[in-house]
Amino acid sequence: MMIVMKETASDEEIEAVIEKIEGAGALAHPIKGARLTVIGAIGDVEQDVNVESLGLEGQPGVDRVMPILKPYKLASAQIRHGERTVIDIEGRKIGGDHFALIAGPCTVESREQLLETAEVVKEAGVAMLRGGAYKPRTSPYAFQGLGQEGLRLLAEAKERTGLPIVTELMDARDLEPVLEVADVIQVGARNMQNFPLLAEIGRSKCPVLLKRGLSATLDELLMAAEYVLKEGNGNVMLCERGIKTFENSYRTTLDLQAVPVLKELSHLPVVVDPSHAAGRRSLVAPMSLAAAAAGADGIIVEVHPNPDEALCDGPQALLADDFADYVATVERIAALAGKVFSAA
Ligand code: PEP
Ligand code: MN
Repeated sequence: MMIVMKETASDEEIEAVIEKIEGAGALAHPIKGARLTVIGAIGDVEQDVNVESLGLEGQPGVDRVMPILKPYKLASAQIRHGERTVIDIEGRKIGGDHFALIAGPCTVESREQLLETAEVVKEAGVAMLRGGAYKPRTSPYAFQGLGQEGLRLLAEAKERTGLPIVTELMDARDLEPVLEVADVIQVGARNMQNFPLLAEIGRSKCPVLLKRGLSATLDELLMAAEYVLKEGNGNVMLCERGIKTFENSYRTTLDLQAVPVLKELSHLPVVVDPSHAAGRRSLVAPMSLAAAAAGADGIIVEVHPNPDEALCDGPQALLADDFADYVATVERIAALAGKVFSAA
């Protein structure tokens, strides 16, 4: 259920409602909007907790009590009354009117490779640096990432460039070391429904980039996001990265309709990853422009100084030499879509 407070409700009145909900054994999630506060009352059972019986309607400060109609509650657009979540990552904003470009190598391979790429993307004016230390590889014999050493190199890149770091967490046992360097934790497509991992990240409060599973519906993506939100972490970005379809002319099908539809269904920022959807460089720029035009709040893209020698995803990596032009073009389209570009 959601309890919509009056615009004039005082902090004490809001607190009294929260206490009543928690007293009934439900979780209370107050969401303070620009105009008013909405409190989500979420039970652990399939249905919303029965807050009607608490007599909240008519309590001081309460405007009305309404059911949340979707299976996801805190992720639903309904709970924010049309307001959009804007996430601030070290001053770089994403969501609402703000667009953020995240770029870097697929994988941290070496100190030289990472620092060189970090300089290139910083110079081009991106908001954040990506790079995987723990890599979800289809083959167990493929390079699995540098692990802790990769995290150490990411910390060095952050120190040098000042860019916030986006990096993947695959295993909850690595949460602590990842939190030391990550400004955004990426949950990969293959882990979208790793529910214990999502709950653990939810308790950490670190911003999350949640990638859509290769065969996941938008409702399943939003319910995965709900696992993070339910633990009290509201900083979730949804990421469309291509889905499996019958088409085999490219790695996966970038589902750009997901962008406006996710925005209808949810208040959370929507990011697009054209690199993994495409699997090859020539498609990345056109699909980036299409994503920005469709209203994406951000793009995450792979860049490499020497893609022919990349240990992972070389064919889809943008060339360092072309990267500044790419950023300028994406910025122009994002501006046409009404967005302010979050720069380094
Ligand atoms: C990645 O971003 O490096 C990655 C592996 O992406 P995905 O989980 O979407 O395949
Ligand atoms: Mn990759």
